[in-house]
Amino acid sequence: MSYLNLDTEYESGDVERLRKEVHEIAREELRPVGREIDRMSDDEYQRIAADDSPYWDVMRTLKSHGYHRAIIPEAVGGGGQFSGREFHVLLEELAWGDPGLAMAFGVDLIPAIFASLPFQNGLDETYLQPYLEDEDAAVQGCWGVTEPDHGSELVMPNSLLSEGVTDGGSIARTQARAEQDGDTWILNGEKARWLSAGPMATHCALHVNMDPDGGSPGLLCLVELDQPGVEQGDPIGKLGQRGCPQGNLVFDDVEIPPENVILTPEMLHPDTGYVSMDQILCITSAGMAAACTGLARAAFEEALAYARERAQGGKPICEHQSVKLQLYELFETVETMRTYSRAVVEHVWERNLETFEFDASSQHALAAQVYCKRAAFEVANTAVQIHGGNGITHDYLVEKLFRDARVKLIEDGTTEVLSLEAAEDVVENYEIE
Ligand SMILES: Cc1cc2nc3c(=O)[nH]c(=O)nc-3n(C[C@H](O)[C@H](O)[C@H](O)COP(=O)(O)OP(=O)(O)OC[C@H]3O[C@@H](n4cnc5c(N)ncnc54)[C@H](O)[C@@H]3O)c2cc1C
Repeated sequence: MSYLNLDTEYESGDVERLRKEVHEIAREELRPVGREIDRMSDDEYQRIAADDSPYWDVMRTLKSHGYHRAIIPEAVGGGGQFSGREFHVLLEELAWGDPGLAMAFGVDLIPAIFASLPFQNGLDETYLQPYLEDEDAAVQGCWGVTEPDHGSELVMPNSLLSEGVTDGGSIARTQARAEQDGDTWILNGEKARWLSAGPMATHCALHVNMDPDGGSPGLLCLVELDQPGVEQGDPIGKLGQRGCPQGNLVFDDVEIPPENVILTPEMLHPDTGYVSMDQILCITSAGMAAACTGLARAAFEEALAYARERAQGGKPICEHQSVKLQLYELFETVETMRTYSRAVVEHVWERNLETFEFDASSQHALAAQVYCKRAAFEVANTAVQIHGGNGITHDYLVEKLFRDARVKLIEDGTTEVLSLEAAEDVVENYEIE
């Protein structure tokens, strides 16, 4: 058996049907297109956002299946079919196919998730309905948090607060700032060149002017990127996850109408706000953990297939005890990753995307992200080792998966910084019965 269903919900049908459907798309489209994009020359990669790019073929397939709709509640016109379990299945399978393309699809969802929050209805006609109806990948979202001079500090508000960062500190002087002009906000400044899908995005869920010192923690707004004053950077050349091109955004007197403000400073306030930054990070942490599981499973399966074929000393290398043990450990790690990340995805889904209570356990969500990122890197590393010399060549998928896994240790917050943030929560809030 290649995929053990550890509970009956899988066997009940719908979830397993979804898994098989997404797996087929991952195998037939994401994996070959992900490899094609990975091998593009620098010149070709600069054209990755062009209309004829294979990137769009994948996004069109995913949208034509309505996966972007299925995660949005029915109440706001979405399909609402997915449970947390199905969301996990979707992300694991897509990342099994290609970790970069899976992330590009993941960030596409972020502005739509925000725009569909129950207290936000100003974007229904201008953004949300066209997004939900889109089957041609005409709409692509991205998420703008980090800045050239503000990386880790924008994803670790709690641990910085405990270090006594004051409003005179550099965080208060973020590079992207929104100033109110009547009802409208005027946006100026820059977001980092790390924005996933930044070069091809049509919309950005943008955090501006964050100040975790207890003053204004900032504003979260939807920015349409095809308007005057917005400059989208070219895709950066990079080590891995090339299926998810990254680039900066620069804003020069860009107008944000009041209906595009999703979370006001009051709503985002760490003490009094309805949605704190750490609850937003719970959603992305859960998704990242599921995606890392898919990456690790792909690397494990590549290593297993290779070890069954490759013979040394008169027998397949999988029959040598040390290799057999390595394969078992990869299997054990992937199964543990799935069990933990699935539990966290279901928990966060229920607290933050179903009941909208925004009280998910941050320590568990961050731990899932950190554990799964590290585990994916270790699994990919061992999978390369099992391939011997072949493992470092472009001919074998594990070489690419290893680079993809390396990138994950930094994406959405470095493992060190996310661990510090989780540690803060554990020390402060873990209840000993
Ligand atoms: C693949 C990928 C995708 C990404 N996608 C997005 C995206 O879609 N949107 C977006 O906004 N950003 C995105 N990012 C940016 C990402 O969140 C940042 O790269 C990350 O948070 C680290 O910031 P930095 O690169 O500026 O590094 P820095 O913050 O400069 O950190 C450098 C080093 O210092 C350490 N460090 C920093 N501060 C501390 C501290 N207080 N205590 C201890 N150690 C510290 C870090 O761990 C790191 O090792 C992405 C990055 C990658 C690699």
